Formats: sequence, structure tokens, C-alpha cells
Amino acid sequence: MRSIVDFAADDVILDRAAILCSQGIPEEAELTENFERIYGEAISLFQQLAASKGITAGISISHFEEVFRGEGLNEPENPVEEIYGESSHLALFAVTLGPVLSEKVTELFDNGDYASGYMLDSVSSFAADRLSVLIAQNLQSELAAAESGKSTLRVLSYSPGYCGWHISGQRKLFEVLCPQEIGITLNESCLMSPIKSVSGVLIAGHGKIHEFANSYPFCDTCRTKSCIGRMRDLK
Ligand code: SF4
Repeated sequence: MRSIVDFAADDVILDRAAILCSQGIPEEAELTENFERIYGEAISLFQQLAASKGITAGISISHFEEVFRGEGLNEPENPVEEIYGESSHLALFAVTLGPVLSEKVTELFDNGDYASGYMLDSVSSFAADRLSVLIAQNLQSELAAAESGKSTLRVLSYSPGYCGWHISGQRKLFEVLCPQEIGITLNESCLMSPIKSVSGVLIAGHGKIHEFANSYPFCDTCRTKSCIGRMRDLK
């Protein structure tokens, strides 16, 4: 099934500690009045300008095999391939904060207001990531409702460009999902526009299928190690 979601402005909870952490600022740090002003303005701009949307489309394991194979450039061993084979339900997805917010970030940088541009960029990156969590939670709730609330399924998102799924996989994903319907396009370098967009696959299955050892060769150069937090949150 294919569906489009319009997120409300307050659906994305902006976690101040996480946003500051993404900038390398510890929670207990004392911040200047000027910093607080820039942060407050970025939050306000986000609330005014974000137009968050998402699209999902269910897909069979055999069809997803073809999407995941993409242009044949994935790492030979990767967690996504191991996980989706164990799944009970798959859906392609894309989410976006809309074009106006990204244009505002560009405008701030173009005008030399780097501090404000950087702050709005950080807030937007955090929010785009949260949208992918929200759309996974939506699917998890739908699947639980279909099982009268007794479902133990956990849904997590996985994206091209991460964890061994080559970025060129975006082309096949876009061919099948067609997120142009909600205004997301792909350029020749496989970058999405609006830039604050996330795409990938939602994988549903028992929580255990999402647990793995992050000891793939490419993990050595991974800066986020985001799998650790995701696996911790499954508990
Ligand atoms: S360490 Fe990084 S690259 Fe490796 S599985 Fe975790 S998130 Fe993916």
C-alpha cells in the first residue's frame, strides 16, 4: 500500500541536548546570551518554515532484493542485507522538511550569517532524522493495530549511503517509490532535493533482527556509530 503523511509542525520534538551534542557542545556547557539568541531564532525559523511530509510504499522481499541490489555497488557483507531477509514487512519511504527551510539555510550562508546558518542546518538535520523515526513508528503502530495491539514487531529505517548500502541505490529506490509526488527529487550525484530529506527502507520484524555486531570493514571509518543507540533503544 502507498500512503502520504503530512506531519504537523509539533510532531517533531526538537531535543535541545541532542541538537547541541551534534555540534559537539556538552549538555552542561554554559552558553552565551548570543548563542541562546541564535538557537532560539533557529527554532522559531524551523517552526515557521518546515513543511514536513512523508511517503511510504509496501514492497515484497523479492522486489526489495532488486531495489537493494541497485547498481551492484553495495559492500559484499552489510547489515541491511542480513536484516531484511528476516523481516515480516518492508516498505520504501522518503520524508522531507520541504524546500523553504533548506532555502533559508542557503540564504543565511550566502549572506555571511554563518552562525545562524549552521544552527538552522543543525536543527533541520536533527528534525529530518526524527521524521524517519516518526514514519517508522507510524508503520509500527499500523502493524500493531492490525494484530489487535499484540504485535512485538519493531520497525527501523535504513538508508542508501549508510552501513554498506551504496548511495547509488537511491536511483532504483526513487524509480520504484517516486517520491517526486511529495516534491523530493534526485540529482546526478544521488543527492536529494530538498537537501533535508531522508529516504530508504522501513524494515519490520522481531526486535532481535535489528541486532548485529558492528564489525564490518566499513565500520572503522564510521563517525556516527548510530547503530549503537538504535540497538540500545530496542531494549
Ligand atoms: S558502525 Fe556505522 S557503518 Fe557500522 S553498522 Fe554501525 S552505523 Fe553502520
